[in-house]
Amino acid sequence: MTSSWPDGASLASPSDGANALRDGFGRRMEYARLSLTDRCNFRCIYCMPHEGVPFISHAQILSYEEILHICGIMTSLGITRFKITGGEPLCRKGAVGFIRDLARLPGVAEVTLTTNGAFLEPHLEDLAKSGLRGVTFSCDAFVQETFAVIARTSTVLDTVKHAMERTAALGLRVKINTVPLKGYNDEQLVPLARFALERGYHIRFIELMPVGNGRALSGVPQKELFASMEREFGALKRVRERTGNGPAVVYSVAGYAGRIGFIAAISEKFCDSCNRVRLTSTGFLKTCLCHDAGVDLRTPARNGASDEDLRAMILKTVVDKPAGHAFFFTANGEKDFFMNSVGG
Ligand code: SAM
Repeated sequence: MTSSWPDGASLASPSDGANALRDGFGRRMEYARLSLTDRCNFRCIYCMPHEGVPFISHAQILSYEEILHICGIMTSLGITRFKITGGEPLCRKGAVGFIRDLARLPGVAEVTLTTNGAFLEPHLEDLAKSGLRGVTFSCDAFVQETFAVIARTSTVLDTVKHAMERTAALGLRVKINTVPLKGYNDEQLVPLARFALERGYHIRFIELMPVGNGRALSGVPQKELFASMEREFGALKRVRERTGNGPAVVYSVAGYAGRIGFIAAISEKFCDSCNRVRLTSTGFLKTCLCHDAGVDLRTPARNGASDEDLRAMILKTVVDKPAGHAFFFTANGEKDFFMNSVGG
């Protein structure tokens, strides 16, 4: 049984999960990606321009208290899992304390972090105690030289690999997200997968999206990638149980605890099962990565809107969540953006 809201969004009955929030197409929203900052210490070639982008002023960025306030309203609507993202979330002072506070918020089932790993290690013990469940490392190379070319950073790749090992040793789940890029890291995808599999990590290959700098580059076709993984590791076996927050199609590999996943937003569009919203660092609730759709929550929250007002705004915005992405900006007039401003 479902109690309908006047404008079409619905909170389903407890049998459907208490306070399950559904959009106008009946998709249940249960997961939010929270961007803490647009700033990043890397300049990945597919993400941000080398010279950077004009950063958003501090006054425009939500304070941690403001983010927690909005998250409290989200949990009351059935959004229970949160991914901390950026920019690079660990570029923002106080991120670890924020993660601890978020994990303790009533109704929060899981908090995870996505990071480039450069600044992670000194914070790991505190993060492990904070209630963080897992860390996703965005890492596109197996060798230092390629790492420096893609991430345009002076960070030493071994620092990141070491942080992965420490993360796992502290009992947190480790995932690696890798964007295959033709002509850049094609030769390193198998070694990187082996590195992950041997350590029990999950590696997920993320199809390049035509966003920001990604528009000028080419990815590796999923079929090609899948075939190269099977050539190396034998038949991949589809894993049906849920292993993350959403769209990865995950495979087990005989002889290894780690798994290989594919996230192919373009060639195998998965918008039908989309379960997520995004909150940018400026307080914009974005209901689709591709489209401009969403609502500014910062202005009303700062102008004294009540929790009920904010809840109603979130509900209305979720109802209007677009059916799916259309990554053809010039054709449909959507504005292009750099992924650091949204958080992936
Ligand atoms: N700095 C954090 C990290 O490294 O995980 C979080 C922010 S980063 C923007 C989030 C994810 O977006 C990364 O895994 C990155 O690889 C991915 N990303 C950025 N631009 C992309 C693009 N054009 N296509 C596919 N993935 C992209």
